Amino acid sequence: AKDAGRNTFRFFNQKIHDDSVARMEIERELRGALDRGELQVHFQPLVAARDGRLVGAEALLRWTHPVLGRVPPDRFIPIAEQSGLIVSIGSWVLDQACGHAACWREACGGDFVIAVNVSPRQFATPGLVDTIRACVERHAIPRNQLEIEVTEGLLIRNPGEVREAMLALEAIGVTVALDDFGTGYSSLSYLRAFPFHTIKIDRSFIRDLSDDAEDCALVVAAIRMARALGLRVVAEGVETEVQSRFLAHQESDVLQGYLFGPPIPPEDFVADWVHNPSR
Ligand code: C2E
Ligand code: CA
Ligand code: CA
Ligand code: CA
Repeated sequence: AKDAGRNTFRFFNQKIHDDSVARMEIERELRGALDRGELQVHFQPLVAARDGRLVGAEALLRWTHPVLGRVPPDRFIPIAEQSGLIVSIGSWVLDQACGHAACWREACGGDFVIAVNVSPRQFATPGLVDTIRACVERHAIPRNQLEIEVTEGLLIRNPGEVREAMLALEAIGVTVALDDFGTGYSSLSYLRAFPFHTIKIDRSFIRDLSDDAEDCALVVAAIRMARALGLRVVAEGVETEVQSRFLAHQESDVLQGYLFGPPIPPEDFVADWVHNPSR
């Protein structure tokens, strides 16, 4: 038993060691990924719940490393965040997203919104609002065509500064969405304290909609509340017709999920969606 304990300990230590080596390797490789052209932005359709029409796209970062292969965002984004690399990578994503949105504007119509994730570190960077304004101007897209997605984690650290930045964005017409809604601690008070335009109901609530009465009740309540506050509601992770019908019936505004389409490269997004917005 004593040996087993020691082995467990050693194994555990080894695991922590492997993990931090892997992290360091990812950080090192990520440093040059942008310059080596290993990063790509994919786009996932956002559709109107009412009629399935294309109303926007979320930009999602992809990294394909020659040796490590496809590294999932949940693996490398936290490392990019901690190392500060997210600031340059994030600006690049923003630029890519706005660039594509500018090309798609005519075909997609005036209400097409491009949604870009901004991490807490990036949001806290001085000059974020200027960067965003410059990007929108450089690509000559209407400011209300860009939506910034943030998570609750951002709001906890520097609520005062974050609120100011959000008001500055609002003043130039760029909207902000609260991502992963329902997964944090006190989403309700945040909705009152910050000028959000949209909530995105986290996919963990959507997943079991058809057989979990409590998740159903929570989603219905979230939609009611958001509508009462004048917020737009996006439901993410919609994978089945049953979920889609339920959410449309409850008057969610926008749906996103594999049922409609996964994130895909811009060329495919053009072929599948931009040329065919009401397919
Ligand atoms: P997120 O912002 O919540 O993005 C939605 C995630 O759900 C994406 O995962 C998307 O591929 C996935 N998804 C969409 N529809 C479905 C569905 O029907 N079922 C399921 N199971 N999943 C679905 P992805 O692309 O792996 O990204 C993971 C997370 O990484 C994102 O979560 C976001 O937090 C972060 N991320 C991705 N791109 C960026 C970026 O450019 N900047 C920053 N700061 N974070 C990013
Ligand atoms: Ca998001
Ligand atoms: Ca989300
Ligand atoms: Ca998430």
